[in-house]
Order: sequence, then C-alpha cells, then structure tokens
Amino acid sequence: MIISLKPDASDHEKEKLFEQLHLLEHNCFYTGIYGQQSLVLSKSLNADELKAISASPAILKITPVNKEYKLASRTWKDSPTTFSVKGQCIGGKAINIIAGPCSVENESQIFQTAEYLHKLGIKFIRGGAYKPRTSPYSFQGLGKEGLRLIRKAADEFDLRVVTEVIDSSLIDEIYEYADILQVGSRNMQNFFFLKQLGKIDKPILLKRGMASKVEEWLNAAEYILSEGNGKIILCERGIKTFDNSMRNTMDIGAIPLVKHLSHLPVFADPSHGTGRRNMVGPMALAAIAAGADGIMIEIHPNPEKALSDGTQSLYLEQFKDLVEKMDKLAALSGRLTDNQVKIVTTQKTELCVE
Ligand code: PEP
Ligand code: MN
Repeated sequence: MIISLKPDASDHEKEKLFEQLHLLEHNCFYTGIYGQQSLVLSKSLNADELKAISASPAILKITPVNKEYKLASRTWKDSPTTFSVKGQCIGGKAINIIAGPCSVENESQIFQTAEYLHKLGIKFIRGGAYKPRTSPYSFQGLGKEGLRLIRKAADEFDLRVVTEVIDSSLIDEIYEYADILQVGSRNMQNFFFLKQLGKIDKPILLKRGMASKVEEWLNAAEYILSEGNGKIILCERGIKTFDNSMRNTMDIGAIPLVKHLSHLPVFADPSHGTGRRNMVGPMALAAIAAGADGIMIEIHPNPEKALSDGTQSLYLEQFKDLVEKMDKLAALSGRLTDNQVKIVTTQKTELCVE
C-alpha cells in the first residue's frame, strides 16, 4: 500500500499521520520520488485502519499494491518513466542504442569504437573497466585507467558512458566517470549495494540476474527506488535454463511482461542473452518488436583479439547494418532511435516528459 501525501501537507499533519500508523504497528518507509512524497507500507491497512487513516488531511490518495514491489509497479504509477541523460531521452518514444566493447582494453580500441558510433549518430557507449569475470585468471579490466579512457573517448565524440560498478567501494569512483551506472547480473540481488545506489542521482541500468524471476528483478529495482533514485533502466540479458545451446536463454517475453507490470524503461542485451555473434541481430530486432525501450550491444573493432566476450561481439560493419534495421523497425513501431532523433527543443519536450 502506498500513501501519497499532498504537496502542501504541513509537518504537523504528516507527523500525526506517522504517529497513527506507528500506533497501528505499520512499518512505513518515507520516500520522495518522481516529485511525489509518499509513505510505503509493507502490509495493507485493514478496513477499520483504512477508515481511520483516510481522515488525515495530509493524504492525497491511497493506492493498494498487492505485490512486494510497490514503487516499481504500474498500479502506483501508470505513466512510463522517462528521464534525460545529457539531453538524450530514456524511455518514452525513444529507443536508445548503447554499444561498445565488453571491456575497455586500450586507447586505440575505445577511440576507434567511439568514433564509429559517433558517425552512426549513436549517443551511448558501453565498456567495462572493472569486469566481473567467472575466473580470477581472466582479464579483470583496466580499472581506473579504463574509466579515464572511455570518458575521454565519450567526451570527444558526444557519447554518454555506461559502465559497470561491481562493488560498493567503487561507487564514488564510477560516479565520477559514468553517465549511467550498470549493475551486472551477478549483483542484482546484492541488496546493500542496491540501497547505496538508491542514494545517488545518476541513472542505474539494472541487469536481470541470470537466475532471477521477473518478480525478484522488480524487487531489486524497488530497493533502489525506495532510497529515492527513480532513474532506473531494467535490462533483460538472458537467463539460465535447461537449454545450454546458447550462453543464456533470451527471455523476450519478459519485455512486454515487465512493461505491463512496471513503469520503468526496459532494455535488452542480446549479446549476453545469446553469447553468439550471429544471434545478436535477430534478438535485438525481436526485442524492439516486443517493445524494448533500448538495446545494449557489444561491438569490437577486432573481435578475434577481444580480451573478453569476443565471440558475441559484432564487427563494426555488422553493427552498422543492424542499426539500419533497428531504425526501420523502430519507425514502424512509431518510435525513434537516438540516431534518428534530432535534438530540437520541441521534440525533446514531447519525447521526454520529466
Ligand atoms: C556486461 O554487460 O559486460 C556484463 C558483464 O553483463 P552481465 O552482468 O549481464 O553478465
Ligand atoms: Mn561482456
């Protein structure tokens, strides 16, 4: 249950309401999110309690939400969440394309990629500087030097940086260099970490845990929301199933499902979702057809030499062909990819309602 408060409710009125809820032994979490002050209750009020509480002059409306996640649900907020990242709208009518290598490897690799993306009109670059690898002996990323390089390349080519934060101790460092902080599949249920990310003001791209149910994924988003950060992008990246013929099983059905359950933008990562270069294009298109708000793709100037995930990385030319297809499909769905959006104020307002 969520109690939305009137914007002009006095401190006294709010305190009285808190007191009443406290006496009824209701745990309530205060949050100011999407310009709305709200109290989230972990359990619903019964009919008598509801009657008593409803009399409070501080209350705007009470929304029953019979799921564990509440602020992430469409029951509470029906309008799709949109926000801008340095002038690029996330969600709404836009389809954002994020591309780049799995890992930042050296200056020439990341600059070559950034220049290519810029020529195609792409606005977001990805690249890991701290890599969560299965084996401790695999390439772990360049660390801070990787962050410096991807930031430098992005600034030169009008790109926004998406990079993974693998640990709480790195939040401040990544915050300095990234425009969107990625939470990897392996960290989706690291709740303490999620809470900390809820306290920052930059967007979080929350990958679905590789063995997580949709409900668990939305609860992970709830951890971030409950601490006040409403700029969340959910990203489907494939799950483990009985079938091991691909690296993961891309759960395309989860895209329309999550868009139905939640107001948050939903992206898809067909690179990790399939693990195979020749499956990435078809799955990217399938995700757009299914209603994805954005696509994240691994590309590399020389995939054979990649230090991580080369087999799923597209060649730059291959990516260019896919972008053309994604543009056409987006237009058919009444949407625009970033590279098609000319940033003029009117369109920006229409695309990104903040
Ligand atoms: C990645 O995007 O580089 C990555 C490690 O993804 P995931 O967390 O989905 O495995
Ligand atoms: Mn990767």
